[in-house]
Amino acid sequence: MRKKVIAGNWKMNKVLAEAEQFIADTKNSVPANDKVESVVCAPFVYLAALVDKAAGSDVKIAAQNMHFEDDGAFTGEVSPVMLKDIGVTYVVLGHSERREYFAETDETVNKKAHAAFNHGLTPIVCVGETLEQRESNETMTLVEDQVKKALAGLSEAQVKETIIAYEPIWAIGTGKTATSEQANEVCTHIRKVVAEAVSADAAEAVRIQYGGSVKPANVDELLSQSDIDGALVGGASLEADSFLKLVEAGA
Ligand code: PEP
Repeated sequence: MRKKVIAGNWKMNKVLAEAEQFIADTKNSVPANDKVESVVCAPFVYLAALVDKAAGSDVKIAAQNMHFEDDGAFTGEVSPVMLKDIGVTYVVLGHSERREYFAETDETVNKKAHAAFNHGLTPIVCVGETLEQRESNETMTLVEDQVKKALAGLSEAQVKETIIAYEPIWAIGTGKTATSEQANEVCTHIRKVVAEAVSADAAEAVRIQYGGSVKPANVDELLSQSDIDGALVGGASLEADSFLKLVEAGA
């Protein structure tokens, strides 16, 4: 039985007081069980404060990106060493907004996945197609390519620990959710790709989230699908009560 993972991606939102209040409002309410884990993906500047605030609770703190090098002359960047040092445990890699606006590529996502594991961070690797790609029936080949390139060179044990977030770009922040069948179809395909590229055991263990306008009203149906092991959620993760409803759906 794979443990579900609900990750709230705040993107570039909240000031410090709001971020800390969110943790105060959720830390004693997230379920502590073997069915679901709760992850908050916050802006870099709040990570240290939120790790402190969430200490002793089952809320895990994630970064939304990182560099793949340990240190060096990379002005404005944040390294895996720094994230690990302050107690961050997860990191989102290759979100479509980073691919679109910040030149993230499959190659840098792969380097970052290796760097994450080298420093004990769990990567949440995002993949997904544009509307144009879906309409021209490229979804499966595109996602397959993204997954294979992201995971290239990782050990079987590392792949088992990886979280893959399938996020159709046309469903992110648009209010348009993929139907649960559409979402599951791609997640099933991703699991098959992992089975072929790595092993059946890795495919069985890897957790695959769906992301794209997930909210309390549609999360149950999405999580009931055979190959959807959680959700990566933007808009509906910003309010504590909404985030808690999403987490409860996984419990
Ligand atoms: C996301 O940020 O990855 C996302 C899926 O956003 P939203 O839930 O707002 O569509």
